[in-house]
Amino acid sequence: MSGMDRYDRQTRIEGWDQNLLFSSTVFIAGVGAIGGEVAKNLTMMGIGKLVLADYDFVELSNLSRQLLFRDSDLGKSKAAVAAERLREINPHVEVEAFGKDIRVLTEDVFRSVDVIFSCLDNWASRRWLNSVAVSLNKPLIDGSMNGFYGNVQAVLPRRTACLECQSINLIPREEKEAECTLKRRNPEHLVNDLKELGIEVDVGQAEKLFQLNIKTVYDIKYARLETITSVADEGVLRLLERLRSILTSRLPAIQSVAAVVAGIMTTVGVKLLHGGKLGAVPTGLIVYDGLSSRLSRVRISRDPLCIVCGEDDATPVEFSFKLGESVLKLKEALASAFGFPDPEVLFGGKRLSDEEILAEVGVKSGDVIYVSTTRLFEPLPIKIISPSH
Ligand SMILES: [Zn+2]
Repeated sequence: MSGMDRYDRQTRIEGWDQNLLFSSTVFIAGVGAIGGEVAKNLTMMGIGKLVLADYDFVELSNLSRQLLFRDSDLGKSKAAVAAERLREINPHVEVEAFGKDIRVLTEDVFRSVDVIFSCLDNWASRRWLNSVAVSLNKPLIDGSMNGFYGNVQAVLPRRTACLECQSINLIPREEKEAECTLKRRNPEHLVNDLKELGIEVDVGQAEKLFQLNIKTVYDIKYARLETITSVADEGVLRLLERLRSILTSRLPAIQSVAAVVAGIMTTVGVKLLHGGKLGAVPTGLIVYDGLSSRLSRVRISRDPLCIVCGEDDATPVEFSFKLGESVLKLKEALASAFGFPDPEVLFGGKRLSDEEILAEVGVKSGDVIYVSTTRLFEPLPIKIISPSH
């Protein structure tokens, strides 16, 4: 038997190039319900190398959808267990697994792959990964689901719409709204914010969270856990985990829809790798509605002024702002305009601090500043236009 016999049936497809799959590397962000299925599909098909990342641990409620995990895996790293199972499914596939938040991976991890699969459950990470893909010119296939509904979007950087192009319509407003991370806050603010959501914590607990730079509900939901684990004590970590599990709403989800979404994503990915030999890659949003058994395609146009994939890199986004105002005020304006919860402002190679006044640090109308945020891979150039000009 030759190594090809394993793939006999798929190689009967006209245009299929198994050697091309053997020599391809893909990145899969998230190995939960959708990511686990995509990883399983590509492993069975004989992809050359899979790079997986997931910082989460296996929980009982995962077992109704996530086929790579067993009861005996509860509490273990999803990435590590997934890698082990995938090697069992097909020992010829190389699997590299990171039990980390994708946002702490180095650039060469992404540079080395041919396609990026985004199988994430939150917009913060999806927006960041989208901006990585566009910056490094890597095709991205994003998949998500909610109950009986599933979405798939292929992003061919600067050729088709990226996830940010129609973010006004597609990213839920509450996700984009910055929760005033920028205002001067004290632990009492956090206690009150949580109280409004029906969650009781005392000031002492809030103070401990503040010491870890966790100052808002948003921070509780999205702070990078691995940077905290090393500095925080057990008690704070358990508090944080408890708050996170209450605050992170869990969408309804079923295995069969995850399998459909992952099936579509994998098929699109294989077509993408074949570069047209298996037909064109679908553009726009593919929407699966399991309730009415409907599969539709929604056109999504590129936004020429998109902050991630806009036509012309050389022309920064223009932003009207008074130069007599402080950097803090600018950050607040940027936060609400672009949905960045944590913008930092760089000018002339230097990070500006909150109380500095733009005019006093030498910013003139027409100057370009750079804004960095955990929603974007690269700082965003912004041309400040003073309204008086
Ligand atoms: Zn875009």
